[in-house]
Amino acid sequence: MPITRRNLLHGIAAGAVIAAGARPVAAIAASGMPQPFRGAPGSAPTLLNRNENGYGPSEKIKAIIREAASVSSRYPRGDYDVLRNTLADLHKVKPEQIVLGVGSSEILRMAGAAYLGPNKKLLVPNPTYPSLVNYAEANGVPVVKVPLTRTSEHDTDAMLAKADSATGLVYLCNPNNPTGTLTPRKTLEVLISKLPAGVIIVIDEAYHHYVSATAAYRSFQDFPLDEPRIIVARTFSKIYGLAGLRIGYSVSSREVATRLSALRLQNGVTILSVKAAIAALEDTAYPHMAAKRNSDDRQEFMNQVNARMLRAIDSHANFVLLNPLRPVSEVLPHLEKNNVFVAPPIPAMDKYIRVSLGTPPEMQEFWRVWDLLPPGKMAM
Ligand code: PLP
Repeated sequence: MPITRRNLLHGIAAGAVIAAGARPVAAIAASGMPQPFRGAPGSAPTLLNRNENGYGPSEKIKAIIREAASVSSRYPRGDYDVLRNTLADLHKVKPEQIVLGVGSSEILRMAGAAYLGPNKKLLVPNPTYPSLVNYAEANGVPVVKVPLTRTSEHDTDAMLAKADSATGLVYLCNPNNPTGTLTPRKTLEVLISKLPAGVIIVIDEAYHHYVSATAAYRSFQDFPLDEPRIIVARTFSKIYGLAGLRIGYSVSSREVATRLSALRLQNGVTILSVKAAIAALEDTAYPHMAAKRNSDDRQEFMNQVNARMLRAIDSHANFVLLNPLRPVSEVLPHLEKNNVFVAPPIPAMDKYIRVSLGTPPEMQEFWRVWDLLPPGKMAM
């Protein structure tokens, strides 16, 4: 039988299920399959904690980055315009509607700085990506957190009930981090149409490329509403594998873009990241391939979850929220002791850990270490 990622991981699952008490990894070793990487002290950590693209950028992008090394001594000049024009063509908008940021983190910060204040509240689902909440809390901005529905969608009715004339900004992360869940486009449209005038809506599409075709999802960047209050944020950190280069962008009305741009870090976006982002947009085959690969990896992860009779929330992104059915206070130290890092629980979902999907060897290592956990008491 050829050794593929799929049958290797199935081997681990089979070991977990069949050999109660026996280590699945030992079963693999006995079967003559390659031994998974072992996290010995001093070995590289297995980083499944920040939703990065473990496979890295495409070869074409890497070649451009190497080539661009020689211009590292220069400040960016015309490069910003090339990228903005490319993005404007892609999204069928004017270049003035595009704002580049040092990651989409800078876009979120600019939106916070422009539209929040002591009398301009932030309204967010909870849990969600915490960047704007952190900004608000550090700057004396009141934050209204609205729990997700039982199916982990944004509870748009409850959010609407909390929105008033003192609301400055509503943040909608779709797919949501950390749950990986989608809120249907129609539901979001109803919310947006009913929000008080003057409320700015940030739609964070960091994980857009990972969503498999479904009628419930439609990007607000690719299919915009005629709504000047919307800012859609995207990043090159995820599917394009450029988290370390720090580049993201937003599409909005020209007025909003002008306001955001005024708050940009001057020369913050680097020449290297701009060149890499342009190359990323040109390499159109890569995101398609990477999305397919991610959906296979996600399926494989769920197979492993099911084989161990654990629970996980169905994800539309490159990470999964996993309920280990035992105290996370046991699981996390065990993983970390073995050099495997996942995102720790958050107060709103304190029984879960978030596992980013890595490469097959990384995921083998994750499950190898998982299976070393001593038998524990179930904690639902
Ligand atoms: N938005 C979401 C939902 C994220 O999960 C992240 C990072 O994980 C970001 C924004 C920030 O991405 P970056 O600043 O790397 O573009």
